[in-house]
Amino acid sequence: MVKVTIDRMTCVSCGSCWEACPDFFEENPDDSFSQITEKFRNNGNIGEGTPSAELEACTRDAAELCPVQIIGISD
Ligand code: SF4
Repeated sequence: MVKVTIDRMTCVSCGSCWEACPDFFEENPDDSFSQITEKFRNNGNIGEGTPSAELEACTRDAAELCPVQIIGISD
């Protein structure tokens, strides 16, 4: 299973990840940084989650698009 992490404190809120993969990434309403949607969080952690198989490809797209390269993907 793939694990996706976001180094949230380095996010610049560009929106690329939640535009590329809106079922998995979203904007946090309080700090405006990217977070993982509730359904896919690991233990409720907003910065770490596991996508469904259908969403793996778009999480990889998001990681490539991130201008500050803070989305980590580990297989
Ligand atoms: S693509 Fe990167 S910098 Fe842009 S909102 Fe997502 S995590 Fe933040």
